[in-house]
Amino acid sequence: MPSILVVDDSNTTRLALKTVLTQAGYTVEEAKDGEEAIQKVMTLPKFNAIITDLNMPKIDGIGFIKEVRVFPEYRFTPILMLTTEGVLAKKEEGKRAGATGWIVKPFTPDQLLAVLKKVQI
Ligand SMILES: [Mg+2]
Repeated sequence: MPSILVVDDSNTTRLALKTVLTQAGYTVEEAKDGEEAIQKVMTLPKFNAIITDLNMPKIDGIGFIKEVRVFPEYRFTPILMLTTEGVLAKKEEGKRAGATGWIVKPFTPDQLLAVLKKVQI
């Protein structure tokens, strides 16, 4: 099954994502900030997709996306960012950093799975 790296400093959001994704059959790995996520990208088998929050301590979502895109094997990996409604500037910044798309918080399980389907994961 496809593996997904979930990056968010909120335990609640990570748990919500993990619950939905695991039930849908995905394998989920978690990281609590961009720094931990980079460690996992460097040391674990390649993930099929990444879902990342934007506002996080240490390395934030934008910084994390930029760093991930440097790895050749992650050049085309779908990276979805979690955004709150109405932060268009952040969406643009995320796109420029290399994000594939976004998921608006709060999300329903169906909305989350629909976004993954859209990026063919
Ligand atoms: Mg956050």
